Amino acid sequence: MKYDYLVVGAGLFGAVFAYEANKKGKKCLVIDKRDHIAGNIYCEKVEDINVHKYGAHIFHTSKKEIWDYVNQFAEFNNYVNSPVAIYKDELYNLPFNMNTFSKMWGIRTPEEARKKIEEQVKELNITEPKNLEEQALSLVGRDVYEKLIKGYTEKQWGRDCKDLPSFIIKRLPLRFIYDNNYFNDRFQGIPMGGYTKIVEKMLEGIEVKTNTDFFEFRKENPDIAGKIIFTGMIDEYFGYKLGALEYRSVRFETEVLDCENYQGNAVVNYTEREVPYTRIIEHKHFEFGKQPKTVISKEYSSEWKVGMEPYYPVNDEKNNTLFEQYKELGTKEENVIFGGRLGNYKYYDMDKVIEAALEAAGQELQERE
Ligand code: FAD
Ligand code: UDP
Repeated sequence: MKYDYLVVGAGLFGAVFAYEANKKGKKCLVIDKRDHIAGNIYCEKVEDINVHKYGAHIFHTSKKEIWDYVNQFAEFNNYVNSPVAIYKDELYNLPFNMNTFSKMWGIRTPEEARKKIEEQVKELNITEPKNLEEQALSLVGRDVYEKLIKGYTEKQWGRDCKDLPSFIIKRLPLRFIYDNNYFNDRFQGIPMGGYTKIVEKMLEGIEVKTNTDFFEFRKENPDIAGKIIFTGMIDEYFGYKLGALEYRSVRFETEVLDCENYQGNAVVNYTEREVPYTRIIEHKHFEFGKQPKTVISKEYSSEWKVGMEPYYPVNDEKNNTLFEQYKELGTKEENVIFGGRLGNYKYYDMDKVIEAALEAAGQELQERE
């Protein structure tokens, strides 16, 4: 066999695994069906601005070891994500905090905000939230739910909030202080010069083939490596034989505008149902850019179909049950490790992907020692 590992997918999971394996003297071949490396964190320069081609990416983590790990490959700036939400002609700060509540209800103190939410929650009689709608209502009350959550969530997921798992909304902080930081994590930032460079560094000295689809490649090269690290869709790997898992796809409509500053913030969410996109990203603001032009991307969410890019796994009960069955099939593939957002069918952030890849690499490489 020519390689110890065939790594399918040059995204973050594949790159971390390959980097760790290479460090231990293992020979890897990394393939990706796209024409570039870095998977969904790929950045492309347009008008001298790093454009996050597959959606805005903000690195954040609570774990010092993950922060130190990623800092080996790039220097990070001090960007703090503070999106704003537009609902009809009203503008609110996110995540849900005193700035939001003050604007929503004309109040000032945390006590007033808590009282307002309590009054609204009391009327609802929810004892144990069973879905996203009940979870959101019982955390922030009806006004915030209806203006800032319901429309956005239903556009993003194409499902009624009653049919979605509550963990999705728990991603967002809720605080009773005036603080618009979207994350609670200790470390946060954007790699100076873009994300692609991180993956480039990880893959230095490792053989990479882009424009190479695994399923085609395998036909011609069945025994090229001792083991496969597969970070594509697990259901596709098994030819969808138990049925297809559901994913959400996103269409990015990107334009260059002849103005210096279009919306004054990197992320603006449009939370009403009637606006067809979920958010507009103005990429230069991630790096405090002063270029004369600007680049914006509108995000349109849709159900995934064959031929589209799968971005978000739909981690509801039905899909999770089906995934467990695929995972079980996966355990029978002795020479394959499934990883990443698609291989593990999990709504992972970048820090969690790095952690999972380090864990998989640690376990695998230790076994081989
Ligand atoms: P990917 O990056 O998807 O890499 C998988 C690679 O495998 C792809 O390049 C694909 O082309 C390739 N591949 C698939 N099938 C095959 C095949 N058959 N043959 C060859 N190659 C194949 N995380 C954060 O921490 N902060 C954020 O702000 C954030 N924002 C996000 C916004 C959006 C819109 C999305 C979709 C995700 C966001 N994430 C964010 C999550 C982040 O993108 C992921 O955690 C991370 O990029 C996943 O890495 P991965 O290697 O698992 O997958
Ligand atoms: N969300 C919302 N309103 C907003 C922003 C987010 O209701 O203005 C909900 C929505 O359900 C979304 C979830 O919170 O899917 C998680 O948001 P996040 O910004 O973490 O989503 P991502 O960046 O992963 O798309």
